[in-house]
Amino acid sequence: MSMLDGFTHEPRIAYFSMEIALQNEIPTYSGGLGVLAGDTMRSATDLELPMVAVTLVSRAGYFCQTIDADGRQKETPMQWQPGDYATPLNAKIAVIIENRTVWVCAWLYILQGHMNGRQPIVLLDTNVAENSSEDRKITDTLYGGDSAYRLKQEIILGIGGVRLLQALGFEIRQYHMNEGHSALLGVELLRRFQYPNEDLRPGESPYDIPRVRELCCFTTHTPVDAGHDRFPYDLVNRLLSDFIDTATLKHLAGDESLNMTRLALNLSEHVNGVAKRHAEVSRKMFPGYRVKAVTNGVHPYTWSSPGFVKLYDQHLPGWCHEPELLVRADGCLPDNDVLEAHQRAKILLIDKIRTLTGVSFDSQLPTLGFARRMTAYKRPDLLFSDIERLKSIARNQPFQIVLAGKAHPHDQGGKQLIEMLHRHARELSGVIGMVFLPGYDMDIARLMVAGVDVWLNTPLRPMEASGTSGMKAAFNGVPNLSVLDGWWLEGCIEGVTGWAVGDSMESENGNDAAALYNKLEQVVLPLYQNQAAWVKVMKGAICKNASFFNSHRMMRRYTTEAYIR
Ligand SMILES: *Cc1c(COP(=O)(O)O)cnc(C)c1O
Repeated sequence: MSMLDGFTHEPRIAYFSMEIALQNEIPTYSGGLGVLAGDTMRSATDLELPMVAVTLVSRAGYFCQTIDADGRQKETPMQWQPGDYATPLNAKIAVIIENRTVWVCAWLYILQGHMNGRQPIVLLDTNVAENSSEDRKITDTLYGGDSAYRLKQEIILGIGGVRLLQALGFEIRQYHMNEGHSALLGVELLRRFQYPNEDLRPGESPYDIPRVRELCCFTTHTPVDAGHDRFPYDLVNRLLSDFIDTATLKHLAGDESLNMTRLALNLSEHVNGVAKRHAEVSRKMFPGYRVKAVTNGVHPYTWSSPGFVKLYDQHLPGWCHEPELLVRADGCLPDNDVLEAHQRAKILLIDKIRTLTGVSFDSQLPTLGFARRMTAYKRPDLLFSDIERLKSIARNQPFQIVLAGKAHPHDQGGKQLIEMLHRHARELSGVIGMVFLPGYDMDIARLMVAGVDVWLNTPLRPMEASGTSGMKAAFNGVPNLSVLDGWWLEGCIEGVTGWAVGDSMESENGNDAAALYNKLEQVVLPLYQNQAAWVKVMKGAICKNASFFNSHRMMRRYTTEAYIR
């Protein structure tokens, strides 16, 4: 018996993602994209969908974040041993990079659901004895290195991934590209489906593009043009030489450079953005393509704190399989139990804050949480635009703030933001308790989204494709206070599920900051003093948002609209 028996016997949907957050100890993810990929596969597990995921083994992870006394981020590799969590697969394939043969092997990680399902996750690895020492490192560092390194990773993921699935005996009926990083898989498929030369008229493409499009679907995640991977053709030609004729590649991926998003768009029958507004923005960015919206969701069980799991199990049994049941939360959950489950989560967060920073938070004070990738458009500094104003609000209505997030090693602006937040913490000391937790990961996210009282998000519109941490908060009865962008445009019902900061038009920093201060001072903090009214909003977040913004709904939509067409 092969270890893949039970997995290879039926045609599957192959889910390709550069990053997947499988469990906290496995650093094969950097942030939202990877957590979404993990939640996608966790829901596939619960729903027992026939899927297989493909990603890189990322032996050195993304990076381990530490922060020095001045608030400067330090990065070190986050080495992990695949053998501790996964088993080596008995298959090896080759790809040609720079005219060298690069061997790719793989590990099998089994995603074990909390119900019955199991899903195979294939982790691609070039750390093979036959490879040169340089090539052995291709699958080491997630989003590390220069653009040549990145393109090599994308060759391994897209081309290597398709070949490895074939070598393992998987029959794939649909390939799902989670973001453009894996778009070269479509090029590998084109090579499989070529018309014989004698059937071609002069100038006709030898590739059966419609056939490949039938096999592929694509989720785009980036509402800014600069965020899309682009590779100059001289680099592409150097690494891939004559893998596919340049005329066809330029036709599919753009004349000036290889644009991975364009390539994926041209090779996919189903294309979607990750929220309604994001799909609109994508249609404007790429006119002529049909881009649907499948709004993201988060995995119910993973993101609910133990107290809420217990409460939901007791009052809404079956919610893990059918989170729509949470729509009944307002009538079914006793107010006191909701407050108690939240207080339990808050204590767990406060314990963690003490362990990580030595600072003691007050379990009776309203607590604001903000955690995301530290980069300019997320505007983690918006709350601190007017320190005196912030202090004066807190003098009358005290509150505390917990922050976290990593900046990409090359994002100098993001790193400066982290330093600035540490300066603000010092400026505010004595008036507002404020900590920055280092090493934002799934575990810290779980504690934060459940343990704070208000989840804050203040991105520059329309840059937030979806955002998912606010959905995690909803599962824990934590209302959002957020700029109207991404998912919150669909999830905000003012005063019912949380609150909007500003309107849904393009951002103006000054206006958004004023709107944030006013909403905090006049609406959110006063309401917190009225526990009966507050618990209503907590339940509003659960019944209106958790019941909808979950990855089970998302996967049911992918299944009926993208996978089975
Ligand atoms: C959920 C999550 C994210 C994404 O959150 P956003 O709201 O989309 O920014 C990033 N990192 C971790 C560790 C998460 O758990």
